[in-house]
Amino acid sequence: ILISLEGPDGSGKTSLLKELVPELQTMKREILTTREPGGVKLAEEIRQIILKPENTEIDAKTEMLLFAAARRLHLQLKVLPALREGKVVIMDRFIDSSVAYQGFGRELGTTVVDWLNDFATDGIKPDLTLYLDIDTDAALERIMNNRADEVNRLDLERVEMHRKVRQGYLKIVEAEPERFVKIDASQSLDKVVAEAVKTIKQRFPA
Ligand code: C5P
Ligand code: MG
Repeated sequence: ILISLEGPDGSGKTSLLKELVPELQTMKREILTTREPGGVKLAEEIRQIILKPENTEIDAKTEMLLFAAARRLHLQLKVLPALREGKVVIMDRFIDSSVAYQGFGRELGTTVVDWLNDFATDGIKPDLTLYLDIDTDAALERIMNNRADEVNRLDLERVEMHRKVRQGYLKIVEAEPERFVKIDASQSLDKVVAEAVKTIKQRFPA
């Protein structure tokens, strides 16, 4: 079973993931949590390259290709082996992040991003994707309160990017209603966790 968590920056994916695992221990299968970009050594190295602010030579297309490379490594080395062993794999970000960030945010468009996602994953899609929805103002306020190190990056460009990413996510979710469950991420973490647990247990009983 492959589950992904998606949402704009500040929507609380990482916090949810931490709280989710203990709540799911009643499931019979072993749970593996992981994140993208990263999850395995080489992909974490690619993550460092992409996210280093000094690396200004990386344009949107190069960024997309690096994400795709990290995605394939992570899938082949960690996610697929775990799925073969029957584990439940829960990912902090996956293919939809590239559609939202590179496709909509950086305006590469969905056609090329969908194609590169397919190329990198051989067409694998999550069985369920929890989309944590939060509007840009609330998300940026959260980031300012919780991640002091990122405050200097909260410039106008970042605000605009956040809006585009969120609007992108809303379109993706609408296009595949069977795969996505939208959760209001402006609620308290407890409520978000409760909704996520309920959804997962309903979708995958026992
Ligand atoms: O998920 P996480 O917050 O760790 O992501 C790290 C950074 O990478 C974030 O700032 C996010 O906006 C960015 N990102 C991106 N494109 C993706 C995935 C993440 O720009 N496809
Ligand atoms: Mg996070």
